[in-house]
Amino acid sequence: MKLITALFSILCLPLLINASKLTYHMSMPYPNSHYFAIKIEVIENDSEIQEFKLPVWTPGSYLVREFSKNINQVKAIDSKGMPLVVEKRAKNIWQIHCKGLDSYTVFYEVYAFESSVRTPYLDETHGFVAGAGIFMYTEENRNEKGILHIYPHESFKKISTALVAADFQDNPHDRVFQFDDYDQLIDCPIEIGNQVEFSFLAGGLKHRVAMYGQANYNVSQLQKDMAKVVEAETLVFGDNPNKDYLFIIHNVANGQGGLEHKNSCVLSVSRWSYDESNYLGFINLVAHEYFHLWNVKRIRPIELGPFNYDQESYTSLLWVMEGITSYYDELILLRSGFYTKNQFINKLQSQINYVEGSLGSRIQPVAHASFDAWIKAYRPNENSSNTTMTYYSRGAVIGAVLDAYLIQKSGGKRSLDGFLQALYKKYALGLNRGFTEEEFQSEFSDYCQQDMHEFFKDYINGTQIIPYKKYFEPMGIQVVDNSVTLLNLGLELSSGELIKVRSVRSGSAAEDAHISPGDEILACDGYRIDIKSLEYKYNNLRQGESLELLVARDGKLFTTNCAFKVWSKPQFSLQIKDSNAPLLLYWLR
Ligand SMILES: [Zn+2]
Repeated sequence: MKLITALFSILCLPLLINASKLTYHMSMPYPNSHYFAIKIEVIENDSEIQEFKLPVWTPGSYLVREFSKNINQVKAIDSKGMPLVVEKRAKNIWQIHCKGLDSYTVFYEVYAFESSVRTPYLDETHGFVAGAGIFMYTEENRNEKGILHIYPHESFKKISTALVAADFQDNPHDRVFQFDDYDQLIDCPIEIGNQVEFSFLAGGLKHRVAMYGQANYNVSQLQKDMAKVVEAETLVFGDNPNKDYLFIIHNVANGQGGLEHKNSCVLSVSRWSYDESNYLGFINLVAHEYFHLWNVKRIRPIELGPFNYDQESYTSLLWVMEGITSYYDELILLRSGFYTKNQFINKLQSQINYVEGSLGSRIQPVAHASFDAWIKAYRPNENSSNTTMTYYSRGAVIGAVLDAYLIQKSGGKRSLDGFLQALYKKYALGLNRGFTEEEFQSEFSDYCQQDMHEFFKDYINGTQIIPYKKYFEPMGIQVVDNSVTLLNLGLELSSGELIKVRSVRSGSAAEDAHISPGDEILACDGYRIDIKSLEYKYNNLRQGESLELLVARDGKLFTTNCAFKVWSKPQFSLQIKDSNAPLLLYWLR
């Protein structure tokens, strides 16, 4: 914004606390312009040239988002107000020429108008601070304690964050927070506005909830149900490393999921998520993000902390971080009474059939899906369903298989709970570091008391169908392989007035007929046709028959014949055979 310097000269109060090398100030004088104004005061400077950087990605979301595209007007002045030379050295790096200056100040503004759990946002209704997209840092200072002043717009009365408030907090126009290091600063999202706040006690600590946006929730119901999830998850690990915890919940038209942090999380949900038909989906999201406070924020691959914010941090273990968390977000709903055992097994069955029925499962091992999240999972294209498998779903299925195997092999003495506890104690609490892929495999083998490297080779670094009978039948679950033969075109079509092809299944009748993503299907057997009729006609073909389609690509028409072609798809049914089987009772307790 134009008035950054003048504005700060009015608002900034003298520092009242021990000097730190970097002190951040954030204001938002014109929320409807969507700009945060940032000032960073630097003292005790001994550099000639100082590099200020902005992360290119934010932990928990594995995509280079180029946050610096929203940074404007980077300026610096010395203590007398004289401008300093600022040079852009890379897409996310600015050099400040500060030779001989004990102190100086950097200013910039951040355009914040992408509404998501991972990007900053500001309008007249609220401000959301996702720190990686806002706060610059220096490598020299990133491990040092610091101070953040927030000057909320006069219409915003509340600030909700897991950052610790400084001792003096008597000025509502200058709210001061402190952080231990830069990682913590950007791991604590901040909600600024007029949000509804409430809290509940669970797992031995206070949980605060900050609700942005009108929605059909019931506070006492949420307090009760969110507490159940917290209690059940705390039992998995035995203790909660936090002193308190914050849920920031954005109630919007189209919810987008959540993002985990060490002692908070952000959920973006549809404002109608709380009605009966959607409520379990909301509770499931709570369970997922809360579980991450252990699994990924503390139990983690070595590549995920300390972070390299300049580039991708590749790990082949996202199937553990996201997949096993996805397994638990369902299991916890069973343990806390939201699901029956049959509902849980039905969910598992659907997950298995989705995974094994996807072509990508046979092409992309889940370890590779993890590694390539940056360019595949987060950047899907029209061919993704043919070649990729989500590490969330396959990871969740593998989590269930490993849990069942640990339980049956130990006669109910060991389980995935125990393995996660062991990782938590050894790596997070003991060594205070992440583990390598090899360490993870070896730790699992040791805990299981069996060399599991073959399992990892076949189902995690390989693409084989998992022998579900072997793993689930000893648990009292009947597994039937009902692989089906289907007749369909192999097209995914987008609806609307035109029939546009979104994707084409590899090896399908449509691919044989030379139909490609982006094509428009105009007519079938000489007549205009809609999607429903086209699918009905194809699904009622008999062997030897075909449909003649009129297709447009790049404005040019051609005709093609879509012939009868079947494909077979793996499909399993899972049913509880003996609901009193001791291992089942232990597994689905
Ligand atoms: Zn997750």
